[in-house]
Amino acid sequence: MSAAATPDRSVLRALARRVEAGERLTREDGLALYAHPDLSALGALANAAAEARHGDRVTYNVNRHINYSNICRLSCMFCSFAKKLVDEKGIGYEFTMEQILDRAREAAEAGADEVHIVGGLHPDYPYSYYPAMLRAIRDRYPSLHLKAFTAVEVDWFAELAGKPVEWVLADLREAGLGSLPGGGAEVLSDRVHRKIFRDKMPPARWLEVHGIAHRMGIRSNATLLYGHIERVEEKVDHLLALRDLQDRHGGFMTYIPLRFHNEYNQLKNIPMVRGVHSLREIAVGRLLLDNVPHVKAYWIMMGLDTAQLCLQYGADDIDGTVVEEKITHMAGGTTPEGLDEGFLRNLIREAGKRPQRRDTLYNPVPSRFEGTESPAAAPA
Ligand code: SF4
Repeated sequence: MSAAATPDRSVLRALARRVEAGERLTREDGLALYAHPDLSALGALANAAAEARHGDRVTYNVNRHINYSNICRLSCMFCSFAKKLVDEKGIGYEFTMEQILDRAREAAEAGADEVHIVGGLHPDYPYSYYPAMLRAIRDRYPSLHLKAFTAVEVDWFAELAGKPVEWVLADLREAGLGSLPGGGAEVLSDRVHRKIFRDKMPPARWLEVHGIAHRMGIRSNATLLYGHIERVEEKVDHLLALRDLQDRHGGFMTYIPLRFHNEYNQLKNIPMVRGVHSLREIAVGRLLLDNVPHVKAYWIMMGLDTAQLCLQYGADDIDGTVVEEKITHMAGGTTPEGLDEGFLRNLIREAGKRPQRRDTLYNPVPSRFEGTESPAAAPA
């Protein structure tokens, strides 16, 4: 048996004592967490860290995704979403403004709290298209929080507008932007950037855009794309870079590890990682990111069963109802495109946790299901 396969419980016990004492974990600790063979003990430690913050509460939101177009000027190797041309089958597509507003109307009528808006880097749309989209949704459906545009899109808009990122974010906020999603970080590693997304903004710029947003009071999320060519030390450095930025401005709400999907992209020869890998990403993220309030099990990319298990491994949020998702499903994602609220609540309760509907900024939102459910099942 190799040394790496020998569970050294004393390492985790020592880490547990430091976590309980509120001590910050180091890079070496992060590497040890990724290497530790006793995944369930690691999960228990991360679950304790999550419960120290949130008790048994797991949040979700009632939202809708609007992926307004997948036409993109770039060709990141892991991406199955981007297309170069609109085609008759709708594989390459551009929603009209009417189609976007229809989706926003459906969201508002269904009682959603948020629309999540992201797309490709369209080579032909003018900058003015983006604030106009937000303004049109905000004016018609003011109850919807607009969580829109990754840092990659914002940086592209700055290039289109010929203005600094600060100007673009201020202009988008004036048009209705409520917060930024966390996509586009992939792995904050120059090596991974060079190899699989070299034409997209470099890691330092992703951090810079989020830092600018945070200084302006615009909250955001942060992601990690795992399960392709990244190395463990690169994931640890990614988490530490997020933690460092959070120390400075405090604008990240949620850390969201995203599982790489391998269909219809240039990395199709890399087998997809399975559930235990996702459980570890959640647990390590919860333990290293001691200053980020929430860790999300994004069920769309992890799969429902794994996302549910993640609620016992350090995740305190399971995303939302989503309704229509294209980015993962164009890469072979097999989850449903959307879930109803009752299903999500049941998923949480089956994991022994207490469901709490939230808005984008994690304020509690009353749910029509409250008071109608029997007490949550005890964890097995
Ligand atoms: S990941 Fe984003 S920027 Fe890269 S090709 Fe896909 S849509 Fe375009």
